[in-house]
Amino acid sequence: MKDDCIFCKIANKEIKADIVFEDEETLGFKDIKPQAPVHFVFIPKKHIDTLNDISPEDAALLARMLVKIKDIATEKKIAEDGYRVIINCNRNAGQEVFHLHFHLLGGRSFSWPPG
Ligand code: AMP
Ligand code: ZN
Repeated sequence: MKDDCIFCKIANKEIKADIVFEDEETLGFKDIKPQAPVHFVFIPKKHIDTLNDISPEDAALLARMLVKIKDIATEKKIAEDGYRVIINCNRNAGQEVFHLHFHLLGGRSFSWPPG
């Protein structure tokens, strides 16, 4: 838990979020500014600032998170049509919240390359 971190506060239930998935190590919730019909944010409950800060000890956690994200995509019926999973890292990617998170976006088609 990092005191000034909004996603730690959500994980700690100090700030409300619309939770779509929770287990002992992961929380998934609706993005407050959705960019697609389905737009969820998945965080490890453990605070990690950015993708630059992961270590080999985090590999299994992050792999398990991807399996959970895939399961939620299936449950929300966006898996067959397709979806996008994104991690923004630092300034050039437009990272706004410095607690590592995956975006799960679906329910529409997305252009490539991204802007
Ligand atoms: P990023 O640019 O990857 O850091 O994205 C941060 C995301 O978190 C943005 O899409 C925000 O809309 C979202 N966000 C910020 N605060 C909240 C919140 N309190 N509840 C849900 N989503 C949030
Ligand atoms: Zn945090």
